[in-house]
Amino acid sequence: MQNTGIGTASTRAAVIETLFARNYIERQKKHLVPTQKGLQVYELVKNKKISDVSMTAEWEEELLKIEKGKADARDFQKKMEKYTACITDELLQTSVAKTNLPYLFCPKCNKEQLIITSKIVKCPNDVCSWFQFRNVCGVQLSIYDIESLVSRGKTHLIKAMQSKTGKKFDAYIKLNNKAESSFEFEKVQTKE
Ligand SMILES: [Zn+2]
Repeated sequence: MQNTGIGTASTRAAVIETLFARNYIERQKKHLVPTQKGLQVYELVKNKKISDVSMTAEWEEELLKIEKGKADARDFQKKMEKYTACITDELLQTSVAKTNLPYLFCPKCNKEQLIITSKIVKCPNDVCSWFQFRNVCGVQLSIYDIESLVSRGKTHLIKAMQSKTGKKFDAYIKLNNKAESSFEFEKVQTKE
């Protein structure tokens, strides 16, 4: 960063701390490496004005000129306002790619691609209206569980779900031929 003109020595440490706090980088032995999340953000902004490094170098120069009375602070402020509006516009037009979500077809109508959110998996077709809550008896179904349920009709054993009476239980979630879900309990091996 030193040679590219991003920030001053004092802000550089803060920048790195922010990258850590947002989980964009991690430490691997003596190196700082980008996380998956960090790379995703990079992919999203790399061709945008907001990631144009030469801009910040120019600002530093301009600020120095203002300090010495060789440039007008109001001009600079106007420029910054214009710039801010511009990058905001550009970012608002960016659609955040839904990465890592599988393309799954609705198990009921077999026509539509399911919408997957953190709360629900549902068919976009109102007539079909198939859905599955992601949280089942206190356990959040992973994408892997959802994929198993929809594509193979059954999840792996979901552990430590909690019934209304507070009792913990393990069960598979499966779909019948009408794509209705139900629990399948593991066969309990009793010692006799
Ligand atoms: Zn459907």
